[in-house]
Formats: sequence, structure tokens, C-alpha cells
Amino acid sequence: MINLRDLTIKKIRDGLLNKEFSAFELTKEFIDVASDKNKEVNAYLSIDKDQALQLASEVDVGLAEGIDFGELAGVPLAIKDNILIKGLQATSASKMLAEYKAPYDAEVISKLKKEKAVFIGKTNMDEFAMGSSTENSAYGVTRNPHDLDRVPGGSSGGSAAAVAGGMAVAALGSDTGGSIREPASFSGVVGLKPTYGAVSRFGVAAMASSLDQIGPITKTVEDAAILFKAIVGRDPKDSTSFEADYSDVTNEPNLEEARNLTIGIPEEYFGEGLDKEVEEAINEAINDIKSLKISFKKISLPHTKYALAVYYIIMPAEVSTNLARYDGLRFSPLEQETKSGLLDLYVKNRSRGFGTEVKRRILLGTFVLSAGYYDAYYLKAQKVRSLIKQDFTEAFKDVDLILTPVVPTPAFKIGEKTNDPLKMYLSDIFTIPANLAGLPAISIPVRGREGKLPIGFQLMSRHRREKDVLDIGRLYEKI
Ligand code: GLN
Repeated sequence: MINLRDLTIKKIRDGLLNKEFSAFELTKEFIDVASDKNKEVNAYLSIDKDQALQLASEVDVGLAEGIDFGELAGVPLAIKDNILIKGLQATSASKMLAEYKAPYDAEVISKLKKEKAVFIGKTNMDEFAMGSSTENSAYGVTRNPHDLDRVPGGSSGGSAAAVAGGMAVAALGSDTGGSIREPASFSGVVGLKPTYGAVSRFGVAAMASSLDQIGPITKTVEDAAILFKAIVGRDPKDSTSFEADYSDVTNEPNLEEARNLTIGIPEEYFGEGLDKEVEEAINEAINDIKSLKISFKKISLPHTKYALAVYYIIMPAEVSTNLARYDGLRFSPLEQETKSGLLDLYVKNRSRGFGTEVKRRILLGTFVLSAGYYDAYYLKAQKVRSLIKQDFTEAFKDVDLILTPVVPTPAFKIGEKTNDPLKMYLSDIFTIPANLAGLPAISIPVRGREGKLPIGFQLMSRHRREKDVLDIGRLYEKI
């Protein structure tokens, strides 16, 4: 028996090279555990045994021939169901894509296949990534492995629960307004949303294209750095992606250099609505980092109070556009014929294929883009988005990082917020600004919370400076 719980990407590499286990044995063990645990956690929508064991065997053959594949070889990963893996289902947790099989690999998957990573399966999520609890899935809620009565967060809740529950070593999620960081905070794992454009989104079901990013969900910050490095880079198939030199992101952090960095604490993130327990946990993390002799400074991000409102105009506008392609005829057929005309067919299929939250956002988005309202809502929101971005530009003249809570509360109970969309939307109040500004942001579990519900703290940094949040995170983990 391999001890799956404590395994990290780093440890797997050592284990494979020292022949403690083969990639096949490791994958098989993970699949057995995942299949069993999935009955109560529902982290995976599909577990793809044959495909995973095939990939693992290729790693073993290569290793026996002395090929050095790199750090991700044989590492069992969980992949959010909105990311395409050729030949496997990609439902985005929607009935609309119930029978859809991916005809090609997403760019991130092509990169991981070159590294010889192994994919255990596709993870549950809120339908088309709209939600904060994974309760909006058409295929049942995912449960938080720390407390099965609670949500794991969302929308990448399946990915976070898979890692937290020892059903994968690491995972990929997507983050449009917090969907990597919020579930990471609720589930006690690390989640990194990269700089907008750092990672190609080719082959990911688009939610809101000016905000979406793919990123890693892992047990340690070091693993997040390794997985991030494997998926970054410009891709001509995603024109928003850029080339940057990320070769040093996995280098061991240097404490002396880190002491030259200053961390800002924005007053606007510590006001009304922040749960006491969360505030205390964040303060503990701040004190721990202070003990490393890294300096802090109070800052202000004055437009923060508008971020949620701006997001809930821009995001639905883009959602309504992106989801126009789902007519129920392409991707996976619902009804193909109707006696009462094409419009009737679209109405029928879209009514049947989409869940309530998705419909709500399509309607909101269509409204804010419609003639007469475009200027009042959409255009205005874009202007305020610029002000939010400017706040960060100003702040980063003074400080190098910004530390905040990730979510105002720990994981809530299943069903607690399902009837109140506004309450649910408030879960993302601290994560949304980084998406609006395109900044890198990470959620790291506050240490020493064994036996209590996990709580994460967030670090943000300048565009393309993932290295700063990763380094401080790694130094914090080692305290
Ligand atoms: N929870 C937020 C929403 O519902 C963010 C979702 C996401 O990041 N994909 O829109």
C-alpha cells in the first residue's frame, strides 16, 4: 500500500526514480481509492481507468528505458470537466453537454501529455463554472472531505475535493471570479489563479472570456509552482495568451530576497461581513509571515466596494454571448426536430439543457447588453473596472504583494445559500478584484487548523509576478 495522503508531485518523482512504486501501481491505487471515496464525495463525474492506466504504463516503459520525462511524469491529476481531454466526456456539469466527448485536447492537456502526466478523471463543478459551491451541477453536489455536510466551494469544487480527499495528487481548475481560490480555501488546499493570459484557454468551455484563467489546485505551494510552470506559455490558438519567462518560478525561494518585498494589507477587505474566525485565522497568517521579518504596510483599494456589482454585469454579458452557441443541436443533441419551427426548437432545447443559475445569467447578460441599457450598465461597468485596475496600479507602486482573506466565511452547509443567489455571490467578494484586474492570486491554507474547518488566505501580486506569491507562500509553509 502506498501512502497516498501525503504524496506530492515532488515525492512521486522521488518514489518513481527510487523504484518505490511504478506509475502503474500508483495510478491503480489512486483509481481504487477515488472510485471508492467518490460514492460519498462525488468529486469526479467520470473516472477513466483504461486511459489512465495506459498513460501510466507508457511512463513505466519510458523510465525503464532511462528516459527522463520531467517532474510530472506519472503524476495522477484530476481535471475539471470544462477542460477537454480527447475522447473523454466534457459536460461542464450541464445536461446540455450530457453526451459530449472531446474531439481534441485543450492546450493545457497537450502540454501535460508531453510531460507524461496521468489523468484520473474529470471533476464535478457548478454548471459552466457558474457558482461558488458546486451545488449548481446537473449531476449532484460534491461534498467537502473535511465535513461531508458542507460544500467544497465552487465552481472547481470537484477538483478541490479530489485533492483534499486524496483522490488525486493535484488538479486543474478554472477561475473567472474565484473558482480556484474559493474551493481551495474551503477544502484546505492551495489554488493559484495565474495572470490573465499566462495560460492558454484553448479547449476550455468559455464562461466570461475577459476573466477566465486555468490554474493548479495542489497540496503544497511548491506543487502549485511545478504544475503552473508546466501549463504556461503563449499559444497562437488563444490570442490573449502571452509569452513570458517563467523559468525561475520553481526555484527555491530565497528568504533574504523575500525580505526586500513589502506586503500590503488593504483596509477594505477587513470590514463588515468578515467572519470573526476568518479574521483571526488571517491575522495568525500575517503574524507568522511577520516572524520571517517580511514587512507589511496598510494600503487602500478604494473602489473595492464596486467590484462585485461590476463583475455581475460584465460576467453575465460575456456569459450570454459565449453560451449562445449551445442550441442543443451541436455538441450533444437534445431534440432535433420540431413541428413549430426553429425558434421553438431553440427555446425547448435551451430551456431543457440549462439549469436555473445559467439561465439567470444569460437573461441578466442579455439585458445589460440590450439597446438602451448598454450604456447605463455595460459601458459604465467597464469604466468602473478601469478604476479598480487603477487602484491596484497605485497600490503596487508602494507594495509588492497584497494579502487578504479569500472568502468571508469557512465552508458553509449544503443547501444553506441555494435559495439566495445574492448571498452566494457574496462568497466571491474578495476574489473577484484579481480577475477584473487580471492579476495573479493564490489561496494558501492557514496553518495549524487540523480538526477545524480550513480557511485560506490570499496573496496577490503584480502582473506576471507569480513568483512573488509562490515564494512567500513556500516560505510560509516551511515555518
Ligand atoms: N462564483 C463565481 C460565479 O459564480 C465565480 C465563478 C468562477 O470563477 N468560475 O460567477
